[in-house]
Amino acid sequence: MITAKKLVMVPGPVPVSASVLQSLGREPLSHTDPQFTDAFQELLTDLRGMVNCDGIAFAMAGSGTMGMEMAVANTISKNDKVLICSNGFFGDRYISICEKRGYNVDARKADWLSPVTAEEVDGLLSSGGYSVLVMTHIETSTGAIIQLEAIAKMLRQKYPGVLFIVDGVAACGGAMIDMAWGVDVYFTCSQKALGSVPGMTVVWANKRALAKRESLGAIPESYVDFDRWIPVMTDTKKYWGTPTVNNIWALKEAVRILMEEGHEARCRRHAEDAALIASAMEAIGFSTACKGEFRAPTLSVFLYPSDMPVGDEQFRAAVAREGGLVAGCLGDFAGRGFRMGHMANLDKHMLICYVGAVERACLRCGMDIKPGAALAVMQEGLAKRD
Ligand SMILES: *Cc1c(COP(=O)(O)O)cnc(C)c1O
Repeated sequence: MITAKKLVMVPGPVPVSASVLQSLGREPLSHTDPQFTDAFQELLTDLRGMVNCDGIAFAMAGSGTMGMEMAVANTISKNDKVLICSNGFFGDRYISICEKRGYNVDARKADWLSPVTAEEVDGLLSSGGYSVLVMTHIETSTGAIIQLEAIAKMLRQKYPGVLFIVDGVAACGGAMIDMAWGVDVYFTCSQKALGSVPGMTVVWANKRALAKRESLGAIPESYVDFDRWIPVMTDTKKYWGTPTVNNIWALKEAVRILMEEGHEARCRRHAEDAALIASAMEAIGFSTACKGEFRAPTLSVFLYPSDMPVGDEQFRAAVAREGGLVAGCLGDFAGRGFRMGHMANLDKHMLICYVGAVERACLRCGMDIKPGAALAVMQEGLAKRD
């Protein structure tokens, strides 16, 4: 058979649109060329508008993990008492980043299947003394989403002195975020639901977060210091480190696509895709790890049926033979299921290909399913959609 196109079905990197690749492949200009600096400035304005940030959007070279570090390095001092609520791998990563920096951290490690609710956060904060709360919007190891709006609004109302930092890496561009709810620092990176290639992180800091930065005085970091970048992000003709020119063009095109669809419409589409894929997967015996209001719109953990004839690695190898790449599970879920990303700019063709590859892998592994059972659910659902 001819070598098939590889379907990237992991929770980032994601398949990217042809126009994003074309932007990436443009002839590089100098970072001082007005054609570039104007485009970069427009991108930053669009990024601020997208999440309703009253402060600054920092778009820089580096992966999402750099965003995690940048967010806390600029807003937390050793005098702060920090509450981190984690319900998975990336929440735990944040705990380790903060502990390594010597912060005074209380870690609340929730069950991997039940994210911390607004009521629980309220209960934890009422024990007093916290000045910073850190949470993960969508936990990539479990496919669980927190009720961010409720938590942020509760925080603003009852604990206005607490700075709220949110890891939005697996969420931004697929799950709604409005920083005016009460989120002070939010960040993501280019290769997830924004739909560009790996290489960039975007950190948004509102006015409260920028004031907190100012109160810290000098910090030891240079590359991730807000103070070094504020002049650049407010006037892209200025220099601190060379911006990733081509990555910025690619991200600009990805954000243009997002805005053309509309932020809210895009988030609705992600929720509809997630629900439809889950129904299709249930038709061939899989179940989603997270249910109801906790099910993420951007990725899912699909647990294997109990009568699975093959092991996890063998199953994922079968998906790979069918041209798809899915991710293994982490931590508590390792070996019990696989992770599928369904974020950014997947169209109907792509969604069918995703589920089709999984279904053929099931047949290849001798699972007792009716060929086309999952695809039938997809086709019926997609035919009703715009
Ligand atoms: C992917 C991810 C990260 C890390 O991003 P990298 O680009 O891999 O460094 C952090 N947090 C969450 C929730 C993620 O999904």
